[in-house]
Amino acid sequence: TTSLMWFRRDLRLGDHPALQAAARDGQVVPLFVLDPRLARPGPRWERLLASLAALREETDGALVVREGDPAEVVAQVAAEAGASRVHVSTETTPYGRRRDAAVEQRLAADDIALVGTGSPYAVTPGRILNTAGSPYRVFTPFLRAWREHGWRAPAGDPQVEWMTKLDSEPLPSHPDREAGERAALRRWEDFCDEGLAGYASARDRPDLDQTSRISAALKYGEIHPRTLLADLDARSTDASGGDVERFVTELAWRDFYADVLWHDPESAWRDLRGGLRGMQYDEDPALLAAWKSGTTGFPFVDAGMRQLLAEGWMHNRVRMVVASFLVKDLHMWWPVGARHFLDHLLDGDLASNSHGWQWVAGTGTDAAPYFRVFNPVTQGLRFDPEGDYVRRWVPELRHLPGAAAHEPWLHPDGSANGYPDRIVDHAEERHEALARMTELKDST
Ligand code: FAD
Repeated sequence: TTSLMWFRRDLRLGDHPALQAAARDGQVVPLFVLDPRLARPGPRWERLLASLAALREETDGALVVREGDPAEVVAQVAAEAGASRVHVSTETTPYGRRRDAAVEQRLAADDIALVGTGSPYAVTPGRILNTAGSPYRVFTPFLRAWREHGWRAPAGDPQVEWMTKLDSEPLPSHPDREAGERAALRRWEDFCDEGLAGYASARDRPDLDQTSRISAALKYGEIHPRTLLADLDARSTDASGGDVERFVTELAWRDFYADVLWHDPESAWRDLRGGLRGMQYDEDPALLAAWKSGTTGFPFVDAGMRQLLAEGWMHNRVRMVVASFLVKDLHMWWPVGARHFLDHLLDGDLASNSHGWQWVAGTGTDAAPYFRVFNPVTQGLRFDPEGDYVRRWVPELRHLPGAAAHEPWLHPDGSANGYPDRIVDHAEERHEALARMTELKDST
């Protein structure tokens, strides 16, 4: 018989349980639906199209890409192919779950089953519960339970017989070399060879740039986290045990945030914990624009915001610092920044992004206490000690040597190349953030 493999956040062939299930049915039609509800022109959309172009090559040209409401498109393609089953990797985001319920219902009318196998996570969200049967809201106990739960061994590469005769939308003819499964595997191997040793200590240093940069590949499912975990298991005999441990923990954060979102879908755009509801936030278009364009006058913040615009990626340490700056120095509500991040990050992911922001804002899991406000200058001096990261992204400061790039106001020619003055006084705004917090506490 023939079945459909409806690809979503799993744009690869290797280690793919749902594709294996489809291949066992017989001939397979690979399908991707361009859903107008998710389409936002911009770098992430381009990246998706490039990944699809790579997947089309890997499927010997068989990948069918159609645009429209998934319920109608999937039913239509299933009818054209004479398929009796549609295979998917189980989706766990709020919209994905609603969409899949609608598709399942639509397919049932034609007597076609929607079959979910596997998910984009090492452990599918919802599986890990404490002894009382409740989800974890704090990372460390989740991490312990996640390790104890363990994950399936990677699935091998399936032998698939593709059906190649259906019509499709065109895709870019020269796929981006950074996109697709092969590029992801290459990137991962390079990281294991060159970045993993020393990762635990260097991961916080944006100037060294020693993280894996595998986040976009994970977002599109060009590689599965279980593939990475299995590789790391094989390597844990190396001298870099602490490095491996640290990397595994980072992958656990990704699973954790997906799990939190699965249990509380509204936390995508609403405070997870209610403690700061009622907080007074500001709206100031000029300050927001300075933050977005990387012209706040704080070099470390500006370097990060410019890296985001230029590369569609920002180092984790800098994500924390720029997020803190928006929430605590400019007093804006975290979803304002989270939206901007999602518009520009190639790895933009609802769970990791919203909960990363909530962690910084003090409304989420394991939230940093509100009174801990990142100082954008000392963070820069500590994690970019030679100023290299700042000079890479802020050309107006390239004339300042070493750490001087972090404090141009201390140098007579600091703004010689047009670098802006600081838009706020950090000490004052820190005070203001704490005052608002105290006021909120006193009024509740
Ligand atoms: P590495 O250090 O090499 O880590 C390997 C992988 O572990 C990452 O690819 C990622 O999948 C996972 N990981 C690492 N740190 C975290 C973390 N704190 N939370 C969840 N997963 C993590 N990550 C996203 O994938 N998408 C987002 O939209 C996103 N938004 C964020 C917003 C804020 C405000 C903050 C503070 C963090 C955000 N992160 C997000 C988490 C983290 O910054 C990125 O995953 C990381 O910088 C990606 O680079 P890398 O692949 O080189 O990371």
